[in-house]
Amino acid sequence: MPAFAHLPSSRQSLLGISGEGDEIWLIRGIAQKQYTCPGCHGDVEIGEEHVIAQVVGRAGGTEHRHWHRGCAKRILEPTLRRLKAVSARESSRVKLEGRGRRPAGKRGRRTPRR
Ligand SMILES: [Zn+2]
Repeated sequence: MPAFAHLPSSRQSLLGISGEGDEIWLIRGIAQKQYTCPGCHGDVEIGEEHVIAQVVGRAGGTEHRHWHRGCAKRILEPTLRRLKAVSARESSRVKLEGRGRRPAGKRGRRTPRR
């Protein structure tokens, strides 16, 4: 995990697989409004650099939550398998929503290149 300590960044996101087999994309974000972190139930303040956890379900569909960086690192990342760094370009909202329109077995290349 220390290898990814500085990620996600504006150039690289992280991608891992949840226990349910969903893709979890960890993307750097700047909060445009106040959110509630699912890790600690505290506020993610407007303007705060944080982690957007975008779920692309194994069966299709997407959803996302806004985490404090520290909470994502401490609570969410350890639950993910095959965590790796990917180009932030691969994790744009449009691309991930497109990915979610197909079930996992029908997405072509299984996971993006670094
Ligand atoms: Zn938190």
